[in-house]
Amino acid sequence: MQITFPHMGNVHIAIKSLLEKLKLDVVTPPPITQKTLTMGIKYAPEFACLPLKINIGNFIEGLENGADTIIMAGGWGPCRFGYYAQVERDILQALGYRFKMIILEAPDSNISELFNQVKDLGENVTFWEVLKAVKFVWHQINAIDQMEKAYEYHLAYTSDKESADKILSTGLAALDNCFHKKDVDRVCSDTVTSLENLPRHNKPVLKVGLVGEVYTILEPACNFNIIRFLGHMNVEVTRSIYLPDWVNDHLFKGMLKKSNRKEVYKQAAPYLNYWVGGHGRETVGCTVGFARRDFDGVIQIGPLTCMPEIVAQSVLQRVSEEERIPCMTLYFDEHSGAAGVYTRLEAFIDMLERKAAAGLNIISGRIN
Ligand code: SF4
Repeated sequence: MQITFPHMGNVHIAIKSLLEKLKLDVVTPPPITQKTLTMGIKYAPEFACLPLKINIGNFIEGLENGADTIIMAGGWGPCRFGYYAQVERDILQALGYRFKMIILEAPDSNISELFNQVKDLGENVTFWEVLKAVKFVWHQINAIDQMEKAYEYHLAYTSDKESADKILSTGLAALDNCFHKKDVDRVCSDTVTSLENLPRHNKPVLKVGLVGEVYTILEPACNFNIIRFLGHMNVEVTRSIYLPDWVNDHLFKGMLKKSNRKEVYKQAAPYLNYWVGGHGRETVGCTVGFARRDFDGVIQIGPLTCMPEIVAQSVLQRVSEEERIPCMTLYFDEHSGAAGVYTRLEAFIDMLERKAAAGLNIISGRIN
């Protein structure tokens, strides 16, 4: 069995490790490029969300590189994610590809359901080997998280932005080749230390919260590398969701670590008190949280036509006014262009800088 999977930020490092520890041959799809997107656009329905189109491109590239099996996360709820895997399978089969698709569904209540799904994937692996593999991968995911958070913080404060970019990419490449916990710890610690030792500037740094749909937040190819762009403008970005949160909350139902969801839902409650699918409720709750922690602004991002984010966006107008925080929304699809996205970001950041410099109490900074 030659198995491939979709990209989502740096999750490929963890998925590859897991599958290899389950004694499977892994075909990591090539990094997302324009070619990936072009294939996805060509074969996916026009109004499908951008992540589905990128998934299709990833799968075609994986299958063309020899994969005969695809692994994909399942989903549920009011948005389209629950049908992603099935729709993707039908599209690829209609194109003539012959493969097996394995859909990992999140467990209803019993974690052993997920362990059994993972175990069934492996070739002659025992329950203990699966447990060991999951523990290692969870460790690796947390290392990715620490490295990304250190990068997002230090990028805003350093005068040597290019070195910060290079340190992170070198660290992630090294992490991709780690097979033991002690190597993961060493790479993570070296990366964080190198970032901490970068020279600092003494210019003002803005704090911006990044909220929205999970794939768009985690995948730089989908968001025009927004975190790097903002960091190069001396903006410290804090996200509403990180990879361990998604794995813990979506795949493991909060069983791997304490989830902050209850707190986020509580903050969202005065504005949006029910589940709208995806991460719409988290978008609202985290925006409230960022406002109360004195962030300078919030940027909401998502794929064009993302239903949960459209609902959240309609609520953010009120949140922006009542919690007194400027908010901006950016949607991405295949027609988005770097120049347009960066111009809008620069305008928003310019407005936040003027506000901060003048000590103004502007809250009418909503840009759609
Ligand atoms: S959350 Fe948004 S982008 Fe993701 S499947 Fe649902 S509608 Fe599409």
